Amino acid sequence: MARDTGPQCKQCRREGQKLFLKGERCLTDKCGVERRSYAPGEHGRGRMKQSEYRLQLREKQKARRYYGVLEKQFHGYYQKASRQAGITGENLLALLECRLDNVLVRLGFAASRRQARQLIRHGHWTVNGRRVNIPSHQAKPGDVIAIKADTPAMQVVRDATELTGQIPAWLQADHESLTAKVLRKPERREVAAPVQEQLIVELYSK
Ligand code: SF4
Repeated sequence: MARDTGPQCKQCRREGQKLFLKGERCLTDKCGVERRSYAPGEHGRGRMKQSEYRLQLREKQKARRYYGVLEKQFHGYYQKASRQAGITGENLLALLECRLDNVLVRLGFAASRRQARQLIRHGHWTVNGRRVNIPSHQAKPGDVIAIKADTPAMQVVRDATELTGQIPAWLQADHESLTAKVLRKPERREVAAPVQEQLIVELYSK
């Protein structure tokens, strides 16, 4: 299964903002953006030529990196979103937000999407009582998410819950039993991703 294994701090520096890809480290002064607030590479400190296309491209790359999705899969999400009723950009974000790896982060069960993906791939989570090992699995309203009984990852997950901020209203979590429920689909205002989805739609509509 293809996945992005590149250096994550470089991705944040390229986008010029913290994307919180590394969990606890992102909250410390070891954060790459805090230490070097310029883009990586030889011309990182130079002036970038701005254009409409560049803004749209960067927004798409930022969303892709934030959710840890590769190009082909991201484009697939866009195509699916454009076929759905409603606003394409909002549909796109809802699809990304409902990925199981992202849901685990939102619930506080993983410190980062990369960690969530590893926990899922190694079979530590169940959805509605069935083991799910696909990070892109779409969580649906009514789904019950639970950690597998007696899994060795229990402590890692408990440590992650310590870092949890507020859990969005479309989800419900029990950090004692490490179980959760998806109450409904997320609304746009509940999606905390630092993304202007309209720019992505404009890019793909060309
Ligand atoms: Fe991004 Fe986190 Fe690295 Fe900071 S520490 S640059 S927020 S991945």
